[in-house]
Amino acid sequence: MSSIAAALAAIQATLPSGVSLVAVSKFHPVEALAEAYAAGQRLFGESRVQELAVKVPALPADISWHFIGHLQTNKVRQLIGLRPALIESVDSERLLRAIDAESERAGIVSRVLMQVHVAQEETKFGMTPDEMLGFFADRRFESLKATHICGMMAMASNTDDEARVRADFESVARLRSRILDVAPDLRGFDILSMGMSHDYPLAVAAGANLVRVGSAIFGDRGY
Ligand SMILES: *Cc1c(COP(=O)(O)O)cnc(C)c1O
Repeated sequence: MSSIAAALAAIQATLPSGVSLVAVSKFHPVEALAEAYAAGQRLFGESRVQELAVKVPALPADISWHFIGHLQTNKVRQLIGLRPALIESVDSERLLRAIDAESERAGIVSRVLMQVHVAQEETKFGMTPDEMLGFFADRRFESLKATHICGMMAMASNTDDEARVRADFESVARLRSRILDVAPDLRGFDILSMGMSHDYPLAVAAGANLVRVGSAIFGDRGY
């Protein structure tokens, strides 16, 4: 078994049923992804449109690609053209509107997650919890024409302080239930994407049903 296949099997063995694994393959060569594919992996995460555009045509068509990086509005058209299965990193209403307009133009419905910022680091992206709650309380999602909001994505603080990481994940799970309280008729708001290589068990414990794991599968990215 390749080390990639072994890592995938080891991680899958720790995930309860109902939790899906996104193999975050950014910065890794197509050969590494092909190895994961051969081991049965079908869900991959990429963070740059340019890189995704190279990898999509180079790999089998039954892969589901998740876009997980910060997306500039001037890249939205190209990304929509690549037909990602899920855009996990919608970090502003402006970006959401751009995705919606471009999806309508392309005649498709895009599936997205709203990214919330709960981590300590200012450098991370996402709406604040208050902004996001307001977005749903004001029912601003109702004017979307070609976008389905399937849930939320978040990153915890980048720290060894387990209590802090756990608190970050739990605050996202609480926000999710508050959103469902203010908009109980939201349909298909089912995905909670949280957790990376070093913290995914804590995310799963807090209720994540999608985890995004890169270096624990493919090794270091060397940056
Ligand atoms: C790179 C990245 C990951 C994976 O990180 P690892 O530490 O390599 O597991 C997960 N989520 C997002 C948003 C990322 O950018």
